[in-house]
Amino acid sequence: MKKLAHRLETGQVSSQEIVTQYLETIKEQEAVVNAFITVDEEGALKQAEEADRRRALGRPLSPWDGIPIAVKDNISTEGLRTTCASKFLANYRPLFDATVVAKLRSSGLPILGKTNLDEFAMGSSTEYSAYGVTSNPHDPERVSGGSSGGSAAAVAAGEAPWSLGTDTGGSIRQPASFCGVVGLKPTYGAVSRYGAVALAPSLDQVGPLAATVEDAAILFSLLAGPDPRDASSAEARPFQVPYWEEEFVGSLRIGVPEEFFGPGLDPEVEQAVKACLRDLEDRGVTLVPISLATNQYAIDTYLTLVTAEASSCLARYDGVRYGQRVQAADSNTMFSQSRAAGFGSEVKRRIMLGTYVLSASHYEAYYEQAQKVRTLIKQEVLAAFERVDVVITPTTPTPAFKIGAKRNPLEMYLSDLFTAMANLSGIPALSVPCGENSQGLPLGIQIMASHFQEELLFKVGYVLERGAANEQL
Ligand code: GLN
Repeated sequence: MKKLAHRLETGQVSSQEIVTQYLETIKEQEAVVNAFITVDEEGALKQAEEADRRRALGRPLSPWDGIPIAVKDNISTEGLRTTCASKFLANYRPLFDATVVAKLRSSGLPILGKTNLDEFAMGSSTEYSAYGVTSNPHDPERVSGGSSGGSAAAVAAGEAPWSLGTDTGGSIRQPASFCGVVGLKPTYGAVSRYGAVALAPSLDQVGPLAATVEDAAILFSLLAGPDPRDASSAEARPFQVPYWEEEFVGSLRIGVPEEFFGPGLDPEVEQAVKACLRDLEDRGVTLVPISLATNQYAIDTYLTLVTAEASSCLARYDGVRYGQRVQAADSNTMFSQSRAAGFGSEVKRRIMLGTYVLSASHYEAYYEQAQKVRTLIKQEVLAAFERVDVVITPTTPTPAFKIGAKRNPLEMYLSDLFTAMANLSGIPALSVPCGENSQGLPLGIQIMASHFQEELLFKVGYVLERGAANEQL
């Protein structure tokens, strides 16, 4: 992005030219990829024109003023349709911008449009979108991952230089890994959630997707920071986009948890991640075998909490406060018919599961128990960071799977096997490409660090990005 910013600064290119080019690529690619639910051609060009005007006056809002972005369609954009990939919100135009969107605007980034996702961010493939599946740009018969599949595919297909996603259990990192791009799930509280439509507020974070680690770091620097409108946002923490340092590598202690290399892991993914680890070792890194045994409970704990929180958060879609109304003779029938018509089947499944685990007779056995296990997971994760600087694992157990391959919801839930732990413990985690498999599908490696250690994640990310696995890419 630095090169593009330099070209803008020196007048070699205008924002209108850049935006026009991306809009053209979108037109060429969308019939196959379907990364966008809404393309805002007019808005993006108008914002580009304003950016060019500011540049002409010598008053850009930031070095990135005029570089466009795509935004996941569960993040509120004032006046621009925000569907959460649900039929229910087909015509919903927010009256305000999410804080992250306001921040993009105050840095001068034109918004190209809103990207596809699984309905209300529930899923791992974008197949649960009411607006069609997003194909993987590396193989259109395969999924782009999810739930931020549109955001990852848009970057991979060259439809946007970078994008925003949300990650509750893996929804930025898993599609980043499937599409061969970089994605960060920031520390819980590092980025404001205000205006990002809630799936599970104790787990949700907004984060960047980009083609390179440096671009992801730059975008994160624009997003991070406290927000009085989000009670869970953390106080100000200085974040500097780190620079590449070869000598830094030798001092690293990297934890490798054996539980992430067990049954269920695709052999080619295992090989690729292990090759990256050997590469790091050759450059002086100390690899420390560690155990994160509580990860075996991560999926169950995550699903209990995510469904409980979702069932509560989604109560607002009733055809009155939000959502399209189905007319009926009395109000209760109107509520239930509106919800029955508006939500897709995965959303209904989760609302029912969540209502069950929160019900008076099951609350202790499920919800309360899951909270306790969450604490154990967090304690184990934090203890690991007393011994090592970062932990490295595969991002996902497999590469991108075929569209339609996972009919059983339980199978789909297993996509989060390696990613949910970071959400449950609130730590940041970065997915970086690590080569490709024998069919040319991208593979990803995940780096986790302790709370607010994003700078360290990006530094390690730089090293992996320049590693042997990505040489041919
Ligand atoms: N795949 C996970 C789920 O279905 C993750 C969702 C997310 O992170 N938004 O819940």
